[in-house]
Amino acid sequence: MTGIDARTVFLLAGVLSGFMAVILYSLKRSYPPAIQGLGEWSVALSLVSVGGLLAFGLGTLPDILTINLPRLLLPSGLLLAYIGAQRFFGITPRYGWWIVAIAVVVLLQLWFTFVQPSFNARLLLATSLGTCMFAAFANLMRKQGLHSFGRALTMLVLTATGAITLMRLVTMLIWPSGNNILETSPQHTLYVIAFSFCIFPLAVGLILMATERLHGELSYLAAHDSLTGALTRRHLNATCTMELERSARQGHSLALLVMDLDHFKAINDRHGHQLGDRVLVGFVKKVSTLLRKPDQLGRFGGEEFVALLPETNLEEALVVAERIRQACAAPGPEVGCTVSIGVTTNSVAGDTVDTLFARADAAMYRAKSLGRNRVETA
Ligand code: GH3
Ligand code: MG
Ligand code: MG
Repeated sequence: MTGIDARTVFLLAGVLSGFMAVILYSLKRSYPPAIQGLGEWSVALSLVSVGGLLAFGLGTLPDILTINLPRLLLPSGLLLAYIGAQRFFGITPRYGWWIVAIAVVVLLQLWFTFVQPSFNARLLLATSLGTCMFAAFANLMRKQGLHSFGRALTMLVLTATGAITLMRLVTMLIWPSGNNILETSPQHTLYVIAFSFCIFPLAVGLILMATERLHGELSYLAAHDSLTGALTRRHLNATCTMELERSARQGHSLALLVMDLDHFKAINDRHGHQLGDRVLVGFVKKVSTLLRKPDQLGRFGGEEFVALLPETNLEEALVVAERIRQACAAPGPEVGCTVSIGVTTNSVAGDTVDTLFARADAAMYRAKSLGRNRVETA
């Protein structure tokens, strides 16, 4: 262990953090603003970078710069990373007490540097604060759930570094030795290395978390209509193909409803496009409350919607369709619009998605020609 020079470790940690700070800053600029926390993470890594580079100057620069300033910058960086994580998870950050704790620790460390120099006292303060901060950060990650690799990696790094910091605190109490941070005992070397090199996997974990979030948002956008939140035609088609195969395999009935709002153009003409949009959003909300969990609702065109009802026979589907028709026809405070609905099931041998849609569509057009605000089957 003695072959490892702590100053070189600080230098590498400083350079690495600076590099990761730049990467996170570039992500902050290119990712959607809805993904919060990237700015805090970038600044956090910048603080740690400056702290690492200053600690590299130990012995050649004044102690205030190489001992005390890094001991302010490193916990501040960790706190900012924690605040960034809170923002990332949509939690209003709470950090008042952490600022007080950091300020108290830094002031006491100043005392134990210049008034009553004691490396062990400074280390005791640093490891106590570090252990608490890593534990709080790891706890935040645990509470948010570890269902992705980025989250699990971040949690793992925080827990491991927190445990090593605690180990250093305990070993320091048992064997209080060494005069400065360059001490070469195995436990101290492990602590210095862990603290310095946790930065890289931690930054990777945070970047992965942001990328996973972006992936989730893009997948959502690809699958959902931006106005109403209903599924897109492509997504519903794919789901329909899957469900149709499953139903054929298991011998289940599957129902399809094609719904077209009646005289919708007249609503636009009379009340304007914006109100027309609100009617479309209201329709999707209304229908969503009338469907079961496994049912899927998609928007196929302007004012044409499709509902896929797995494990549903014709009688059950007709009840649902009638409920939707009535809910739309019922007078309400908002401008309303009736709906014509075509219903079909996978009752014909060799049915495909196309044949199902064609039949439901034909039924819907029959409802239109028979006077609208009706449910027809095919
Ligand atoms: P029908 O009863 O025969 O279905 O008559 P309709 O007026 O509902 O049907 P038509 O196909 O003539 O008109 C559909 C209208 O829907 C025309 C189009 O401007 C409007 N529309 C399509 N997409 C949107 C949208 O996103 N927002 C709004 N406000 N209107 C839309
Ligand atoms: Mg219409
Ligand atoms: Mg239409």
